[in-house]
Amino acid sequence: MKKACLLLLCAALLLGLCACGGTKEYTAETYAFDTVISLTAYCGSREEFETLRSAVFGRMQELHKKFDIYNEYEGLNNLCTVNRLAGQAVPVDGDILELLASALQAEKLTGGRVNIAMGRLFGLWKEARDTGVLPAEDAIRKAMLHGDPADVLLDRENGTVTLRDPEMALDVGAVAKGWAAGQAVRAADALERTNFVLSAGGNVVVRGLVKDRLWKVGIRDPLSQDGTGHAAVVEATDMALVTSGGYERNLTVDGRTYCHIIDPQTGWPADKVLSATAVCEDSGRADALSTALFLMDAEEGIAFARENGFRAIVIDREGTVWDSEDR
Ligand code: ADP
Ligand code: MG
Repeated sequence: MKKACLLLLCAALLLGLCACGGTKEYTAETYAFDTVISLTAYCGSREEFETLRSAVFGRMQELHKKFDIYNEYEGLNNLCTVNRLAGQAVPVDGDILELLASALQAEKLTGGRVNIAMGRLFGLWKEARDTGVLPAEDAIRKAMLHGDPADVLLDRENGTVTLRDPEMALDVGAVAKGWAAGQAVRAADALERTNFVLSAGGNVVVRGLVKDRLWKVGIRDPLSQDGTGHAAVVEATDMALVTSGGYERNLTVDGRTYCHIIDPQTGWPADKVLSATAVCEDSGRADALSTALFLMDAEEGIAFARENGFRAIVIDREGTVWDSEDR
């Protein structure tokens, strides 16, 4: 299972198991974006919950197919198709163009730290995690030559995307899940307003309240042995909270651990902090920002968050919690 670093705190949920303002707690799970996705909501009836569940999960599954870089699907040009046809203009739908536009914006905002054009480089590290063998320095250097975001051409008028560098590949792992979760919540907003939380492997979106109280979201303590300890708790409503952590999906060679977030400057995995959480209204933005924070040291990350108007909670290598809201 993909990192599950944001754990919903049970206190509020347990209270909610009984009837709550004429509503009951319902929960469901699905699998997409390589992770378990869970939805917990307070609804007046099972029917109401089913309508919500099908809108939210339906949108997540639809976007999963569009943003998949490993598999193609019949009748759909997705990002895997774009990568396979690198060098050509590939007709794609509006969701793909919007995701890529927002990812390219994030690249600028984060000073090149979050760079979806570096798929070749990230692919090398994925292979390393799968095989247990570190990539050759030479292969890293070569891959880094094919990751210029200026070579990703979006043509909204004609509805196409072109990777101008035929050796380039897109990897939207740092941004797609959060962006999709934001879209799924929008699909829910089109229905009657409900109180719910959507949690997708470290990407959490909370809507409304629990028993007239804010949702409580626990941020996993990366040093907790069994993964159940919390380093911090955030109370929020109508908010996205996304954590990037180095404690899952990693590779250990000769006693050294290499995580799945790669610094585009060096070509090597980041190791500045243990985890980084971004809190802001826009789920897609929070996903990009959490990955960017993971590539900064704690002090830099806190300053970056304050400059850009979002909340950052960073856990440094010693396990100390830094919160941009503490002054
Ligand atoms: P997760 O996918 O575990 O939620 P992140 O959102 O931080 O965590 O994204 C990490 C994924 O993004 C990696 O698995 C890889 O596919 C991709 N990636 C790694 N480093 C970068 C980077 N510097 N910029 C953009 N994408 C990256
Ligand atoms: Mg991210």
